[in-house]
Amino acid sequence: MAASDQQPAYRPETLAVRAGQKRSQFGEHAEALYLTSSFVFENAAQAARRFSGEEEGNVYARFSNPTVTMFEERLAAIEGAEDCVATASGMSAIMAAVLAHLKCGDHIVASNSLFGATVQLFSNILSRSGITTTFVSHTDPAAWEAAIRPETKLFFLETPSNPLTEIADISALTAITRPRGILVAVDNCFCTPILQRPLELGADLVIHSATKYLDGQGRVLGGAVCGARKLTEEVFKYLRTAGPTLSAFNAWVLLKGLETLKIRVEAQAANAARLAAWLEAHPKVARVFYPGLPSHPQYALAQQQQKSGGAIVSFEVKGGRDQAWTVVDNCRLLSITANLGDTKTTITHPATTTHGRITPEARAAAGISDGLLRIAVGLEAVEDLQDDLERGLRQI
Ligand SMILES: *Cc1c(COP(=O)(O)O)cnc(C)c1O
Repeated sequence: MAASDQQPAYRPETLAVRAGQKRSQFGEHAEALYLTSSFVFENAAQAARRFSGEEEGNVYARFSNPTVTMFEERLAAIEGAEDCVATASGMSAIMAAVLAHLKCGDHIVASNSLFGATVQLFSNILSRSGITTTFVSHTDPAAWEAAIRPETKLFFLETPSNPLTEIADISALTAITRPRGILVAVDNCFCTPILQRPLELGADLVIHSATKYLDGQGRVLGGAVCGARKLTEEVFKYLRTAGPTLSAFNAWVLLKGLETLKIRVEAQAANAARLAAWLEAHPKVARVFYPGLPSHPQYALAQQQQKSGGAIVSFEVKGGRDQAWTVVDNCRLLSITANLGDTKTTITHPATTTHGRITPEARAAAGISDGLLRIAVGLEAVEDLQDDLERGLRQI
């Protein structure tokens, strides 16, 4: 657990390369990687003070590690949060945020288009401990309000949604929760703090799968929970006991990822905007889902809430599963994988991969057709991505 002690006047790109760094006596320029599971004390009295919390300092790497602390301070600074707690993965960040603040009998209202593992966590795992969830329309604040019960403690959402890029109105939802004291947690994985700042829109906690854009180069798993210290402190207490903390090595990789976050995300989003416009004009494409296109049903809200449309583009080919698979199978450049947030562009067929386990009826209700493809746009030349997609599109 660590707080930002940087001057708030620095802009995000400056914070991304500078915030949080502490130099050792060796004066290293890059952040040091402290691969150590425990820390030694000068004497018995200091050990006692460290264990009691009377003296700040490292004790054991499940509680803190200097490299992890540097990552936490840097991400908190970029996200504009008072504090940040790093976790082993995005899923452990979600689990820690929920279990730190909710108990048996409490209730969550959540978006009906969340990351698949989040739905499983809420429906199948937390429900066994008596924490129940009502899933409501992602885009309809009135449905969220109607689902509130006396025991509702948390609104949980991610926006834009995967894969249809629907936008949840963060300000509208926080206006509902504020007078009732319900917490709002936003999984900010798709936009990152570069494109969307949920805390400024009234959210209480921002959750990251650092595995995606924060690393951005497909190397490590990681996660984080950001927010006011009185809320993250509870997350820290849960983590230091339950154990899914971030490894020092992964923190070190992620520190370097944060340094290039802004230029990567902006360049990937610019590529995505160009690719989305090209797809929309393509005769073999039935429909494009991209919040940066004026044809997006929530274009105005997206313009207000996000700095750009982001780097995820979904589209429906004319036809169904076979036509969609033809496009995938003719890709030589795009990676066929469900991962996202990488400098390498990825393509996936949601109906048979990420959303393959839900029933065809539920899939249809969610708007995920058999002709739908999702592209997480990377840093390659847009013309090369177009050529790669055109090879398949011309065959359908
Ligand atoms: C990948 C992802 C997660 C889970 O993160 P892991 O690091 O894989 O545990 C959570 N939310 C969203 C939106 C994701 O894309």
